[in-house]
This record gives sequence, C-alpha cells and structure tokens, in this order.
Amino acid sequence: MNRTPTYNALILRARPSGESNRELTLLTAEEGLIRATVFGGPKSRLRAHAAPYHQGTAWLYRNPAKDFFKVTDFDVQSWRLGIREDYDRAMAASAVAETILASHGGGAERGPAFALAGDTLDALEGADRDGCRRIAAQFLWNWADILGARPDLRRCAACGREFPGAEATLWYSRREAQAVCPSCSGLDEDIRALTGAARAAEFLPAGPGARRWLLAAESLGPGRIGRVGTDRASWREAKALCAAVLGAALGKQLASWDW
Ligand SMILES: [Zn+2]
Repeated sequence: MNRTPTYNALILRARPSGESNRELTLLTAEEGLIRATVFGGPKSRLRAHAAPYHQGTAWLYRNPAKDFFKVTDFDVQSWRLGIREDYDRAMAASAVAETILASHGGGAERGPAFALAGDTLDALEGADRDGCRRIAAQFLWNWADILGARPDLRRCAACGREFPGAEATLWYSRREAQAVCPSCSGLDEDIRALTGAARAAEFLPAGPGARRWLLAAESLGPGRIGRVGTDRASWREAKALCAAVLGAALGKQLASWDW
C-alpha cells in the first residue's frame, strides 16, 4: 500500500475538528470520496488552502493501522474565490457539493464525476443569479446520468418508440423512474383521469420547453447553459424533474435543491 498517495482533489467540505484541526471531504479523480485531516493552527498556510471548492493536487499520508488520512500538502490550482463572494453562487455550489456527498461521490464513474464537478464550479464562479440556477439544474441532470439514473427524453421507456413530435408532453413516472410517451398503453388517459395531488404524486409532466432545455443541458457545457433560458412554466417542470430524478436515485430530497 502506498502510504503517501497524491490525488487530483476537489474540497467539498471542510469542518472544524478538535482544537485546531480541519476534517476535509475530498472528491478525487482517482478514488472518489476521501476524508482527510488537516493539522495546524489558524495561521498555517495549509489550513488557508483547505477550503471548500478549492481544487488542486493533494499529498496525503495514509496511516493503515488507523485507516486514516492526513493532508501533508495541498497545491491549489483553482481557488474559485468568486463563489464565496456571492450568495447565489454559494447556494448553487453547496447544492453541487451536497449532491456529490449524498451520492457517495458518484460511484464507479470517477473521472467523469470529477470533471463534471470541477467544470460546474468553474462556471459558477462568474455566474449571475439566473445563471447559477441553470448551472445547478444542469449539474443535477447530468449527475443523474453519472449515477445511471437519468431518464431518456428521446425514447419512450415503455414502448421504445421515439417520442412523437416536439410539441408532445411526456410523463415521468416516479414509481418507474422513467419517461413514457403520451400515447403509450392508454397511459395518457389514465394520467389525465388522475386529479391534482394523486397525479403529482405519481407523474411529472415534461412539456416541449422543459424537454428542449434538458436536452440542451445534456449537450452544452456548464459554461454555456448559464445563458440558455426558457419560459417560467418550462423551467419549473425542468427543475422539478431534476429534483425528482435525483431524489429517486438517492432515496431522499436535499434541502439545497430548493432554489
Ligand atoms: Zn410509449
């Protein structure tokens, strides 16, 4: 076992630990989530480097007897100071970090997970209020793909046909965690027969505007989605779908998704 491993690391969380230490949770490109302790008083250089959303090279020391990591150095390559300066950026970044923590770092897809997290935080650094919300929603949608939980918006999960017409409303079934076409098995009539709360508990609509936006979120990088808007109703649907899909994957909703 290598006792002094080096990682490409992004700090997701930094909490006080004991008198003057810090407990870090790192997302690494190599091993996913790692917890490590920073020792040192308030004036230590290392401690100043060990703050949320900083990304760079982390040198760790592994104590195999105690299954414990200590940070020996952290060379910050991305500081992302702009995130802390602005409330909306900070809220969006915390939604990103908490989602990653709640999903154990994204499982086996370590490289893509690390790249998505870093690109998203880079885009947030200079984003305005609307931009932050779009970038965060895009992150949730693409993170669902990392987790293997994102529904296909191009093809019906029940009948396999391509969704008819750009103007159709699709339905996301919470129970099946899939999107189905309006004509499939008479489902459309069943859904429409359900009223208000009963329908909302089982199905979410994805109208044409929400679909277009989510498909754009799949293909555009975080630096560009911040400038892609849609009408209010479509945005509400897209956002609700992101939260429902990830909520189904994680088995819970996070408070940080409410923005
Ligand atoms: Zn169908």
